[in-house]
Amino acid sequence: MCGTPNTQSEAFTPEQQAYLDAFVASLDLQATFASPPTGEPQPVTIHGTPYEDLCKEEVAKHERHPWDFHAVMRDHVQQGKMPEGTDVFMFKHQGMFNVAPAMPGFMCRLRIPGCKMRGDQLRGLGDMARDLAGGYAHVTTRGNLQLREIPAEHLLNTLTGLASIGLTSRGSGADSVRNITASPTAGFDPLELTNLLPYAIELHHYILQSRDLHGIPRKFNISFDNGGSISCVSDTNDIAYLATEVQPNDEDVDPGVYCRVLLGGITGHKDFARDTGVVVKPEHTVDVSVAMLHVFIEHGDRTNRKKARLKYVLDKHGFDWYLDRTAEKLEDMGSDAKLIRLSPEHDAPRQPIDRRGHIGVHPQKQDGMKYIGVALPLGKLTVEQLHGLGDIAAEYGSNDIRLTVWQNLLIPDVPEDKVDDALAAIHALGIATSASSFAAGAVACTGRFGCKFASAHTKEHAGLLVEHLQQKFELDAPINIHLTGCSHSCAQHYIGDIGLLGASTADGREAYQVYLGGGSDHDQGLAQHLAGPIAADELPLLLEIVVGRYLDERVPDETFLQFTRRHTPEQLAELFLKPASELVEMA
Ligand code: SF4
Repeated sequence: MCGTPNTQSEAFTPEQQAYLDAFVASLDLQATFASPPTGEPQPVTIHGTPYEDLCKEEVAKHERHPWDFHAVMRDHVQQGKMPEGTDVFMFKHQGMFNVAPAMPGFMCRLRIPGCKMRGDQLRGLGDMARDLAGGYAHVTTRGNLQLREIPAEHLLNTLTGLASIGLTSRGSGADSVRNITASPTAGFDPLELTNLLPYAIELHHYILQSRDLHGIPRKFNISFDNGGSISCVSDTNDIAYLATEVQPNDEDVDPGVYCRVLLGGITGHKDFARDTGVVVKPEHTVDVSVAMLHVFIEHGDRTNRKKARLKYVLDKHGFDWYLDRTAEKLEDMGSDAKLIRLSPEHDAPRQPIDRRGHIGVHPQKQDGMKYIGVALPLGKLTVEQLHGLGDIAAEYGSNDIRLTVWQNLLIPDVPEDKVDDALAAIHALGIATSASSFAAGAVACTGRFGCKFASAHTKEHAGLLVEHLQQKFELDAPINIHLTGCSHSCAQHYIGDIGLLGASTADGREAYQVYLGGGSDHDQGLAQHLAGPIAADELPLLLEIVVGRYLDERVPDETFLQFTRRHTPEQLAELFLKPASELVEMA
């Protein structure tokens, strides 16, 4: 371990400096112990940042690499104790979150590379939920799974249990490359341009095997969009690869399918990933990702957590600088991957996104095959449902399961003549395969149910809102409602048709800031603030007025998004808030 940080006044002797250089190199921490150009010892720096300027999380990472916590965790298991202080942060690198005081025990967040897993793994996870955790799992907004209420005694059992079914939680939290998402229909989507799933999975394994790609400056999201029918909100990621059909052009780039590279998405900070003006061949996406990660590792801010995401490197240096550094890294790596400059005007238009494509029965590109999207109320699965859906995927499909960022899952490869039996088996588990226009697009972060940062019970409120609205209205197109408990924005309120951000009223009641008109992909745009804080128990009435007035006032076939975007925030306030305040007064 590096031990106590040295200050500038505590100079190293040349022997000490040589020892430290060798020691740090052996740890592969990528720390820069500057070599003295004139024989004079230099201050210790980490990628150019003086040690004494590092934030406390950076110091913790450099004192002990996030992978070197097995003995510490065993200690906690033996003593039946939960981590405290910076250990809470460090344990998250293993995917184990002490979520106290919101909930007892650990939350374990998995990694499901490319959002693809097997039916037998889901069954195995059901066993773990029953034996080691609280008896349920949640699908997350990164097409991932979480277990909760894991006692300290089961910390290592959980990690080894995951390994025994071919899963892991390593690097799913803290300063890591998070679960790598891919289009959930990759490989069977009739509209996809190319299947990028193999690259998402290869990158997942590359990162898991690379000590130097863990404990990076801050969390990092990567997504692979096949250009098909279901959105994986790729433009909200730090790196998004968007499959695109390059047409004949005068820029000397061969026509064909490439990945357009988008960078810097972080909607909680009001930024979408933006086009870099570069395309890469799909088979080069792994090398390009690794090179980009190394540039981030060297230049990410290590003093201020709020400015440590990739967006801030890009804001400081610009896209061209970042791409040039990436090209240099690719050369250093001996990679033949190329960043190909190409204006997006040569891309064929993206295929339309089907907002209901993740629910119900849909055709695959393989003749005679269907996939079934099951509707999970805000992502929750009981033990029986974990077992049952895993078995159904194995019996009626190909044992393949895909998770979506819409907090549900798909069972692909069901032959047409088995669809009815598969549906009956799913329904027998108490799980629907259809959803109202409100339920289909409702996503909610954990909220107060199990997250200490939350201002509101997002999942519970989402359920109540959906129930209320679907009793009142039948829509011809979904309205997506995103509920997020705090400004970390795990459920991305800025991209919802209706976005709700947890808050509290002056008298301390749970409440929400209300935003309208957000979207991603084709519909990219940040939702605009309408009102707030609105007490949670007043929200059903307000949203009833919002949806009702939209239906009354829209032009034929106008979607909610189009409607909200053709009005100014002031006009929307006049339309929606005036009647709401009159009604509240009447009541
Ligand atoms: Fe917790 Fe905030 Fe994320 Fe919701 S958005 S899960 S409250 S950190």
